Amino acid sequence: VGVAMESAGTSSRDQVVAVVGGGLVGALNACFFARRGFQVKVFESREDIRNAEIVRGRSINLALSHRGRQALSRVGMEEKIVSKGIPMHARMIHSLSGKQSPIPYGKKGQYILSVDRANLNKALLTEAESYPNAKINFDHKLEDWSTDTGLMTFLRPDGSKESLKADLIVGCDGAFSTLRKQFLRLSRFNYSQTYIPHGYLELTMPPMAGEFAMKPNFLHIWPRNTFMMIALPNLDKTFTCTLFMPFDEFEKITSGDQVIDFFQTYFPDAIPLIGVDALKRDYFRLPAQAMVSVKCSPYHINKCVLMGDAAHAVVPFYGQGMNAGFEDCIVFDEIMDQCNEDFSAVLPEYTRVRVPDDHTIADLAMYNYVEMRAHVNSKWFRFRKNLDNI
Ligand code: FAD
Repeated sequence: VGVAMESAGTSSRDQVVAVVGGGLVGALNACFFARRGFQVKVFESREDIRNAEIVRGRSINLALSHRGRQALSRVGMEEKIVSKGIPMHARMIHSLSGKQSPIPYGKKGQYILSVDRANLNKALLTEAESYPNAKINFDHKLEDWSTDTGLMTFLRPDGSKESLKADLIVGCDGAFSTLRKQFLRLSRFNYSQTYIPHGYLELTMPPMAGEFAMKPNFLHIWPRNTFMMIALPNLDKTFTCTLFMPFDEFEKITSGDQVIDFFQTYFPDAIPLIGVDALKRDYFRLPAQAMVSVKCSPYHINKCVLMGDAAHAVVPFYGQGMNAGFEDCIVFDEIMDQCNEDFSAVLPEYTRVRVPDDHTIADLAMYNYVEMRAHVNSKWFRFRKNLDNI
């Protein structure tokens, strides 16, 4: 597995790479570093999700596309994940009258995949652990990292603390990254964070007579300008429906009957498919969740580099957050080859190459925030659809 290379007189076999965060990007990144022969130590604040009864993630399923697949293929995981994904060849637009019109994602035969977030994360953790030189430390929450000494301090559930230094720290600790907070204290670090006015809420559409309640190989969209609902299929023949709406509007709905009135007005075809009782109940199960867009640069300081949402949380409307985070791993890996694994050259080069691309993904995601809920309804979009069909 992997080829250990000499860098600055030290074999990568002896060098410790600490990956903070064992989410989607951290777990995948652990595989990339383990393949190279580093001593990889992953620190994840949560318990091992493979043993947990309830896994609280962000979305239940997500769309895996080309970028993400490429990264998975580099660590030999593409087929394993793709075989458990459901191809979505087109968007299926639901009009108010219930009419459904497909808009393909690409040419014939091209598709994106609906994958289960928890399964994907579990599979990547198991793959990372299959390398003898990789270890995952669950229940280790990074509390502090000193930019002066490089010492990381982790908090354990029993209140005890553990400290560690590493040759490289890879920050994959998500949109609210603890490592990134230390970057903020340093000079010449650029940072912006924007919450959009919309929140999101997930609802389950159960199978009907043992089959999917709607056509499975589509990403269903109900664009309603200010509001939008989408639905992605799951292997158990349910759909996870996600309602995106301004927080003000969420707050106006306070009773089960109001939920039904709201759906009757905007998504009438979904009511019998989700079910009146389920709608009245599930709408209030969890509060609507916020969505944040974070941009920063540089992505590195000293021996620490940020990747995934820690470097670039994006709004979910372009379906590229995880995919871009997975692509970060490929880009870093290629630069490792170009710079002979010399971190002092790799990190600045990674920032130079990656910041503009990730910022562009963040901008496109923000653009699609409007596009998806409004333009898919518009004449302009119908015009484009006609072009697509030619
Ligand atoms: P995370 O998945 O957030 O993982 C971070 C990990 O770090 C977690 O396991 C966390 O427990 C751990 N952690 C946090 N703090 C610490 C600490 N102090 N110490 C130790 N560990 C810590 N992307 C797509 O590509 N396609 C989609 O269809 C898509 N749909 C989405 C839908 C919604 C509603 C949302 C909100 C996001 C969606 N995304 C999608 C984006 C995607 O979820 C993220 O880009 C992806 O989860 C980023 O992975 P990550 O590993 O960087 O961060």
